[in-house]
Amino acid sequence: MSQPITASLIREVIGEAYEAVKNDKGGANANYIPFLANIPSDLFGIAVCLPSGEVIETGDTEYVFGIESVSKVLTAILVLQQYGADEVLSKIGADATGLPFNSIMAILLEKDHPSTPLVNAGAISACSMVKPVGDADKKWTAITDMLTALCGSPLKLLDELYKSETATNFNNKSIAWLLKNYGRIYDDPDMSLDLYTRQCSMGVTARQLAICGATIAGGGLNPVTRTQVFDPSLAPKITSLIATVGFYEHTGDWLYTSGIPAKTGVGGGIMGTMPGKFGIAAFAPPLDDAGNSVKSQKAIQYITNKLGVNIFGSCSCK
Ligand code: GLU
Repeated sequence: MSQPITASLIREVIGEAYEAVKNDKGGANANYIPFLANIPSDLFGIAVCLPSGEVIETGDTEYVFGIESVSKVLTAILVLQQYGADEVLSKIGADATGLPFNSIMAILLEKDHPSTPLVNAGAISACSMVKPVGDADKKWTAITDMLTALCGSPLKLLDELYKSETATNFNNKSIAWLLKNYGRIYDDPDMSLDLYTRQCSMGVTARQLAICGATIAGGGLNPVTRTQVFDPSLAPKITSLIATVGFYEHTGDWLYTSGIPAKTGVGGGIMGTMPGKFGIAAFAPPLDDAGNSVKSQKAIQYITNKLGVNIFGSCSCK
């Protein structure tokens, strides 16, 4: 049996995780986006948000970093809320690709749909679906409103990151137009890609991501603002998407070792959601070869294993 998850237990365990991982030198900052390559590599923070709204944190949890692919979860929630679970399934899909986040091969292999809103193809497709279709400004407002509601406070665009990414996103341009070829972009492809690039360039803190994870874990109720952000029936859908592909081609290894559905971003952030229990986030820029933060993974694995919490059942095994 796992112990009751109290604030004092979390404080103790995240302190241990921080100490165990802080000197790890594995991985390297993302280098294909110039802005990310220059972020100090030793930044490291961990935050947990409980259903009471209490946030327990240690390290650099107020540092504002690029949300990157974690944003895919937030926009997926927006289109789930706007269209319903069935239409998102038929227009985008909910399958793992088993391939890297920016894979063009995945689109060629599964040309009937972009697989899932949590890889680049599906996320660009999701941005194209955001209502009102055809109006970039209002779509962007809908996206940022959802980000604010889920994280409990506004996120700010990191302009330099946005410029850096826009100047180098040739692969994503190919994805947007390939999707257009298959009828899987539901608005202007260049506008949809720009919205995707902008949402990836939003600055977020580990604290905000922990609150977002807790909002998903609480069935759409933000525990800090006490606002119902999305329909509770969508929570299992979004959690299933995160569980299926949150770590791209390493998702199976991640679930096996950590027991928590979580989504990574090349900015170094990871957001986890444990239904009914808590949201968790960690941030550290150096990434492994699949684009997942090395220290953030180790910290979250340490914490879930130490607490004995696991989405697949109680796990007292070591
Ligand atoms: N904006 C990044 C890209 O499209 C996000 C990748 C990620 O965080 O996995 O390449």
